[in-house]
Amino acid sequence: MKAIVKLKPETGIWMDRVPFPRIGHNDVLIKVLKTAICGTDIHIYNWDPWSRKTIPTPMTIGHEFVGVITEIGSDVRGLKVGNRVSVEGHITCGHCRNCRAGKRHLCRNTIGVGVNRPGCFAEYISVPASNVFNVPETISDDIAAILDPLGNAAHTALSFDLVGEDVLITGAGPIGIMAVAIARHAGARHVVITDVNDYRLEIAARMGATAAVNVTRTSIAETASQLGMKEGFDAGLEMSGNIQAFSDMLQAMNYGGQVAILGIPTGEVSLDLTQIILKGLKLKGIYGREMFETWYKMTSMLQSQLDISPVITHRFGVDDFQQAFDVMRSGRSGKVILDWD
Ligand code: NAD
Ligand code: ZN
Repeated sequence: MKAIVKLKPETGIWMDRVPFPRIGHNDVLIKVLKTAICGTDIHIYNWDPWSRKTIPTPMTIGHEFVGVITEIGSDVRGLKVGNRVSVEGHITCGHCRNCRAGKRHLCRNTIGVGVNRPGCFAEYISVPASNVFNVPETISDDIAAILDPLGNAAHTALSFDLVGEDVLITGAGPIGIMAVAIARHAGARHVVITDVNDYRLEIAARMGATAAVNVTRTSIAETASQLGMKEGFDAGLEMSGNIQAFSDMLQAMNYGGQVAILGIPTGEVSLDLTQIILKGLKLKGIYGREMFETWYKMTSMLQSQLDISPVITHRFGVDDFQQAFDVMRSGRSGKVILDWD
């Protein structure tokens, strides 16, 4: 079958033919309908230091998708051939303390679809049935293909009670943009988002941000003062992975504020801790999505007027995958969808 594969340990990605996947007794086989390109796929394309030490080649990549179940392992219960599904891409061990406590997102033995095992940029994929999520009928294929990053945004934004709060989001990548819509939906007062990329800030503004701030021109403090804020932000969602952005966020927080950190810095960073200590800030690291509370919450929000459609900016047929990767790498995109059907 056709697949998009990291064939060689160098920059680039290639279309190739790979063996048809086999399923075990606890697995399901899924025919892939639509996929989306993640920042992780771009890291793998660029063959950065993280990819070099993480990705064995050849590897079929990709982990954001929607598809239809075409075959079911003999021990699988509760799923049927024909179900339209998306998949939690973190495959957890099931025997560590956190897994056994139902906190699978904190599993120490997580394996990544399209990272450590074959991914979804292929005609078919086999995954454990316990990672499958049935997509409600009212959610379109395009949106169903991006539930994974929407889940990152939801897991982060729903960490704190945002009702009536002033929220600062650093980083208007696809995840930050979606977090704007979630913070609005959840009842925040001001939702301020920052970036250095006007294309992306413009999408964030359309998602309902009170202010979409290019920090190369306007500071967060100036923006807060224009909004009449006197005491700083109540909640911070770090979604850039940029240490300057994180440091600016700490400065802008109110005393006792809460910060959830999703963005992953590329290397070691140094940081002035006094803001955290003297202001009594609470910090929470975020990894992946809660299995499966985040999935239920985000699909319920989509069924009750959460609109994230502006984040999808480009759609390509799968044979035009190179164009899709090029536009994603240019920074002039939100989410990019590949159609496999
Ligand atoms: P992205 O790289 O597309 O977006 C990051 C954005 O931050 C970019 O638009 C960039 O221009 C912006 N940025 C750079 N410098 C900035 C600054 N000084 N101030 C404000 N913004 C700045 O990434 P994404 O796909 O939206 O993901 C967001 C982050 O979350 C990334 O760091 C990614 O690696 C990380 N991530 C973490 C998890 C997890 O489980 N923890 C999962 C997915 C992604
Ligand atoms: Zn585990």
